[in-house]
Amino acid sequence: MNVKVNEFGIKKMKTRWGTCSIVPKRIWLNLELAKKPKEYIEYILIHEMTHLLERCHNERFIVFMDKFSPKWRFYKEGLNRIQLRDENWSY
Ligand SMILES: [Zn+2]
Repeated sequence: MNVKVNEFGIKKMKTRWGTCSIVPKRIWLNLELAKKPKEYIEYILIHEMTHLLERCHNERFIVFMDKFSPKWRFYKEGLNRIQLRDENWSY
């Protein structure tokens, strides 16, 4: 992906699978992901790292996701189905 993450960690979060602070290049992943297959964790990590290339969930973001995680739609769907059909969940 050719991006550099300065810092990352895991924490308990109520409504997000992951977060990315673009300027410090810091990524947090939700502890809940530990219960998921590792492909899902990878998908969220790629999503957050893609934010270092594109801040918004726009078409450019989707082009990057298609490139770095071709099956991302499948994982996104899966995470939504597995639990938390709550619209408040985001990442
Ligand atoms: Zn995002």
